[in-house]
Amino acid sequence: MTPISTVGKTQTQNSTARPVVASVAEVTQKIKQDLRMGRAHQEGRINWITAIAMGIFHVLAIVALFFFSWKNLAALVITYFFAINVGIGMAYHRLLTHRGYKTPRWVEYFITVCGTLALEGGPIFWVATHRVHHQNSDQEGDPHTPHDGTWWAHAGWIISGRALHSETALLGRYAPDLTKDPVHVWLSKYHWLPLTLVGFLQMGLGAALADPGHRLVGALGMVLWGTFLRVTLGLHATWLVNSATHLWGKRRFETKDDSRNNWWVALVTGGEGWHNNHHAHPVSARHGLAWYEVDINYYGIWFLSKIGLAEKIQIAKYDPENPKPAGV
Ligand SMILES: [Zn+2]
Ligand SMILES: [Zn+2]
Repeated sequence: MTPISTVGKTQTQNSTARPVVASVAEVTQKIKQDLRMGRAHQEGRINWITAIAMGIFHVLAIVALFFFSWKNLAALVITYFFAINVGIGMAYHRLLTHRGYKTPRWVEYFITVCGTLALEGGPIFWVATHRVHHQNSDQEGDPHTPHDGTWWAHAGWIISGRALHSETALLGRYAPDLTKDPVHVWLSKYHWLPLTLVGFLQMGLGAALADPGHRLVGALGMVLWGTFLRVTLGLHATWLVNSATHLWGKRRFETKDDSRNNWWVALVTGGEGWHNNHHAHPVSARHGLAWYEVDINYYGIWFLSKIGLAEKIQIAKYDPENPKPAGV
C-alpha cells in the first residue's frame, strides 16, 4: 500500500509543480537575457543622460586647467583619494563586490558614500555590473571586454548601456546582499546627492580661502578642480582597469580571462591595476601580491584593521615559485 500511495502522491505533486517550474525557468531565462551586458546586446543604443553628463564633466575638466592654484590642486588630490581609493577601491570593489573583509556597518556606509563621489553610479549598479564582469570575463555577456573594442571597454559601454542604473530590481539579482539593505538601496537611488553636496562645500571653501574681491574665482576654481577635473580623471583611471588591464601588462596567473598586471594603472587607481592577481584571487582584499606591487587601497584596509575598524581580511596565499589561480 505504501509504495502505491507514494507513487500517487508524487504524480500529483509533479502535475501541479510542472507549470510553476516552467515559469520559474522562464523568469530566470528572462533575467539572464536582460542582464546580458556585452556589446552585442546593446543594439547601439545611447544613454543620453549619461552621455551628456560625461560631456559636461570633460569640457569643465579642460576649463579647470585655466584655474590652477595649489589650493585647488590640494582639493583635487584629497577628494580623489576619498572617492577613488577609499570609495571605489576599498568600498565598492574590495568590500561590497567581493567581501574581502568586514567592517562595522557605519564604516561600510561611510566609505560607500565616498564611492558615490566618483560618479560611477550607486553601489548596487556598480557591484552587480562588476560581478557580471567576473562571471563572464572576456566572454559573451561581459559588460566591458576589449574583445568588443578598446573604446567600448573603456567608456563606450557606459554611454551605450541601457540605463541599467535605475533598474535596481533587475540588478539586485546580482547583489541581493545590497538590495536587502535600505541604506544601500537609498544610496543607489540618490548616488548623485553626496557629490552635489561636496561640490557646494568646495565652492564655499574656495570662496572662503580666496582674497576679498576674488571670491567668485576662488569658488569656481575649487569646484572645477575638486569636482569636475577630479571626477573626470577618476573615471578614466577606473575605466583603464576595464580596458588597459585586459590588454597590456604581465600575466602571472593562467586565468580564463585576459587580465593583466599593469603597474601604471595600479599607480593611478591605488592598486586596482594588479588585475591578473585579482582575477586569480577575486576575494583577496590584497591585490599587490609581491613586495614591489604597491597597493595603496590594501594599505588603507590594513590601516582600518589596526584601528579596530576592519577584520576577517582575506589575503591570497601566493607562492612565487609556483603561481596558481585560486581553486586550482
Ligand atoms: Zn577584469
Ligand atoms: Zn573584482
